[in-house]
Amino acid sequence: MQHFTCDLCGCHIDDQRYVVKLELYPTFNPDELTPADLDVDHLQAVSQSIMQGDDLPLPVEDINGTGILTFDLCRECQLRFRRDPLGKTSRSPMHFSEN
Ligand SMILES: [Zn+2]
Repeated sequence: MQHFTCDLCGCHIDDQRYVVKLELYPTFNPDELTPADLDVDHLQAVSQSIMQGDDLPLPVEDINGTGILTFDLCRECQLRFRRDPLGKTSRSPMHFSEN
């Protein structure tokens, strides 16, 4: 039997597992060069990145080949996700703890 943990709260999910599939894609051609791209010294940018040890963000297609992200959620987190799919309220300064 396969065991699942909630990707939001980390709890063990028994039989009430919910799956969220998000498709993320650009609405423009990411390979198309813009005048701003031509102004950048790419060789210098790459060498700086290597020297600084930057972790370059992965293109969406590289995450799992399709740009579709899949998450397992428990019942509670599924309810929270339905109310606030982008986590906007949890990022709001209004919800900081007063402790
Ligand atoms: Zn959860």
